[in-house]
Amino acid sequence: MGKVVAIDGPSGAGKSTVAKMLAGRLGFLYLDTGALYRAVALHFLHNGIRPEDDDRALAAALQSVDVRFRDGRVFLNGIDVSGEIRTTEVGHFSSVFSARKTVRAFLLEVQRRASSDNDLVAEGRDTATVVFPEACKKFYMEASVVERARRRYAQLKEQGMDVTEEGAERDVVERDRRDSEREIAPLMKSGDAIIIDTTNRTIEQVLEEILAIVRSDP
Ligand code: C5P
Repeated sequence: MGKVVAIDGPSGAGKSTVAKMLAGRLGFLYLDTGALYRAVALHFLHNGIRPEDDDRALAAALQSVDVRFRDGRVFLNGIDVSGEIRTTEVGHFSSVFSARKTVRAFLLEVQRRASSDNDLVAEGRDTATVVFPEACKKFYMEASVVERARRRYAQLKEQGMDVTEEGAERDVVERDRRDSEREIAPLMKSGDAIIIDTTNRTIEQVLEEILAIVRSDP
């Protein structure tokens, strides 16, 4: 198994941007675990699987799934779905389906496999607590709800989505609640994670702080 830097935190904390840049600076691979959950949700939507379906139905649908994250892109059964997974609908269903045991067990394997031959910067909700408890460095990135909603709004607007600031804030609050309250692998701070608050800070400032910590202790 390669070295892993694990970064968790709620949506809009800036994890993806920082993790991607950090991986580039360290020469590690980048793993966006949220993209895997989104790809599985997309597969379910394509196949008529609904949140009220039981675990057997979900497990059956997962038998025909191959999800991979490579070079910043996510592939669902060999097809690049990196754009398609970014809609608010897929975001919503990824959060709903991610609470399911079958889905988490399936993606646990996918994530661990990604680190078998590579050094990795992995980001998500449970990468430090569940997926890579042996990670050499763990971070928990957070920011105020207002700031995270503002970032989410700007991001969705940039992607041409039809969204309001109130809608973005509702989405952030709702996802925080669902991700933190679920029974399996809820979003939480790992006891050994370093907390980084990104409110009112630039990406560069956060990146440099994290880089200094990672490099200070090889
Ligand atoms: O990070 P992103 O917003 O793309 O993740 C989409 C959803 O996938 C999250 O709201 C969360 O419910 C779920 N997720 C998860 N565990 C992870 C990464 C994402 O439950 N490690």
